[in-house]
Amino acid sequence: MGRRRPPDILRKSHAHTEGKARAKARQQLRQSLDATLMPDERALLIDLDGVVYRGDEVIAGAAEALAWLAAERVPRLFVTNTTSRPREALVEKLAGFGIAVDVDDIQAPADAAAAWLAARGVARLLLAVPAPTARAFAGFDTLTPDQAIDRQRDQVSGTAPAIVDAVVVGDIGASWNFERLNAAFRCLMQAPQPKLIALGMTRYWHAPDGLRLDTAPFVSALAHASGAEPVVLGKPSPEFFAAALERLEVPAARSWMIGDDIRTDVAGAQAAGLKAILVRTGKFRPADLTLGIEPELTIDSLADLPRAWAGHA
Ligand SMILES: [Mg+2]
Repeated sequence: MGRRRPPDILRKSHAHTEGKARAKARQQLRQSLDATLMPDERALLIDLDGVVYRGDEVIAGAAEALAWLAAERVPRLFVTNTTSRPREALVEKLAGFGIAVDVDDIQAPADAAAAWLAARGVARLLLAVPAPTARAFAGFDTLTPDQAIDRQRDQVSGTAPAIVDAVVVGDIGASWNFERLNAAFRCLMQAPQPKLIALGMTRYWHAPDGLRLDTAPFVSALAHASGAEPVVLGKPSPEFFAAALERLEVPAARSWMIGDDIRTDVAGAQAAGLKAILVRTGKFRPADLTLGIEPELTIDSLADLPRAWAGHA
């Protein structure tokens, strides 16, 4: 952090009795400490929904706490499992709350997946993802499920060479049908077997008309039938947290995650080697604290972070 606790020699100030030379030496020592202490500082990954805002309402004091982080120059990245809206829409939403962030200050499953795939030289993708999410894969050679169906029409032998190097699955909900799911399955049965990439592993969600299947059941069906082991890019997967830390260029050991989901945020971050802060906003329920998952810190809301961190060096 920008304002860190100096060693005793610097805190016992007798500046009024000091000669200029001594004061200058102190100043130099302070500057060199500023430089050398950097690696010990904290970095923070911040969940959005339930921590910064809830639906369309900002969490009270969140904007001020984030301004404090910026003033303290704490490296931070917003990490969300949202795939229904592009990052640009999240930037706009945050701006509406008086919180200024860049697109690159946010990591969502699609851009984490794009970075993960690019780093591995993967070029050809079958994209079963919502339209706003597809943009993140603009740099790849992509097929939609319907295009894959066309390409597979002549491949009846079952041993055709792979037409893609990865099958990327997000929450396309009602756009799934048997033919499209089967096209993704057929891609995974070709050789060499494409990677199976899941944009999160949420099982279901609460839509206005009731519960709806999310991404996980379809990924599971594809994995079960093809034998492919899915790579999950979304919380709580270690790959997702690793991608975030890579982006911030900080090690897990000095990184913290703040979230409202005891499993996805807290347990997920701890499994990836980070410390975790649970907030009592968003989806938090008191029963979450009886699950045997122990956050390093539990605070009422993001607004309490400055005070909580000051007493928890
Ligand atoms: Mg949340």
